[in-house]
Amino acid sequence: MLSDIQIFWYNHNMNQPITSKVNEKGHLEIGGCDLADLAAEFGTPLYVLDEVTIRSRCREYKTAFKGRYDNTLIIYACKALCNTAVLKLLSDEGIGFDVSSGGELYIARKANCDLKNIYFHGNNKSKKELEEAVDLGVGRVVVDNFDELKALDAITQKAKKKADILFRINPGIEAHTHEFIQTGQIDSKFGIAKEKAIDAVKLAAKMKYVKFVGLHSHIGSQIFDIKPYIALVELLCDLAGSVLAETGIKCEDINIGGGIGIDYTGQDNVISLDAVASEIVEVFKNKSQKLGAPKLILEPGRSIIGTAGVTLYSIGSIKDIPEIRKYIAVDGGMSDNPRPILYGAVYDALLANKANAPKTEKVTVAGRFCESGDRLIKDIELPKAEIGDILCVFCTGAYNYSMASNYNRVGRPAMVLVNNGISSLILKREAYEDLIANDVVL
Ligand SMILES: *Cc1c(COP(=O)(O)O)cnc(C)c1O
Repeated sequence: MLSDIQIFWYNHNMNQPITSKVNEKGHLEIGGCDLADLAAEFGTPLYVLDEVTIRSRCREYKTAFKGRYDNTLIIYACKALCNTAVLKLLSDEGIGFDVSSGGELYIARKANCDLKNIYFHGNNKSKKELEEAVDLGVGRVVVDNFDELKALDAITQKAKKKADILFRINPGIEAHTHEFIQTGQIDSKFGIAKEKAIDAVKLAAKMKYVKFVGLHSHIGSQIFDIKPYIALVELLCDLAGSVLAETGIKCEDINIGGGIGIDYTGQDNVISLDAVASEIVEVFKNKSQKLGAPKLILEPGRSIIGTAGVTLYSIGSIKDIPEIRKYIAVDGGMSDNPRPILYGAVYDALLANKANAPKTEKVTVAGRFCESGDRLIKDIELPKAEIGDILCVFCTGAYNYSMASNYNRVGRPAMVLVNNGISSLILKREAYEDLIANDVVL
């Protein structure tokens, strides 16, 4: 089934789920479900996730890398979207997990994810989180700094349990992306400076229960250029070589993080995973020859889940400010998708119930929250919108629900997983009671 779908993917709008099509009513359909029907059944705003797109992205990653270098592990960065049903699905596809908090670890366990394929990240993990990681025996703790290394030493001694660790290295590589999602530059809160890596390995070697097993780096997110990855592979392999030469310790893992970009607008120039894998593996194989065939690990988040998701909104009011701007206001906004207000992120959309209608006007999509900056899309061409139309915003699978808030005490949306004409609720809409569930009334 999926081999046909993969061919389809490259002929398709790259910013839409691969199953999206316009049906005979002129409505957009995803996973065989009419989006206008989903909006009517589950209400709006509604997150919709396409199962086929998620599974096919996992398989694309695995085929591209494992086909070229067998000892590769693809792990999903849970922070992109962390929901029990979704993690189960990914686990079923043989994907490992990058968790960056006790909460994400908890959900990964609830989804029965294999603990040995869990990598625990974070630049300031709490003592409790480190204790949990040691106690459960997660696959790897990715240690960010010397303070954490010392804390982990104490925790493992107390528990008399071992912890396999990677060091997060700050490689001093700048990827061209938004400043807030750049993570590998020298001035960064993440990781150990590459010059201090050997000292860190030597220190860990003296610890009884802490075992250094490899290196990690993550240079940022929404990256379209392969060059910084190549530079990173070279740098980590060289560093692993120095570690081996100076300490005799082999790196079992070389983890190059995530960050591969996706096409949000239908015009972004994405690189195919096949091309990414081919270039990375070629350099990796060459550079890692003397390292004893370490495991190559990638941690995609956005590029697994981003395009699989869309958000449906109802249009509730339309305001035309003559000669200035026409606003169409929807029933969600910055609380279900904070990326436009956070980083000026750009999205594409269409009217799900008028999917074939010609685009005749330029409008700005306003959210419902009490901030002027709450605009989901500035200046988009749409067919003439009317009250009650359903707006479908594309590429909302990653960093939307996971960053959602209850601003203005609006409950977070529901989420449905669609496949083959069946829609399954995987996240309930938050009700008023949920909003005060933790309030303590005096
Ligand atoms: C966020 C993050 C990722 C995933 O980034 P994407 O851009 O979603 O692929 C991977 N690894 C680490 C350590 C991260 O912080």
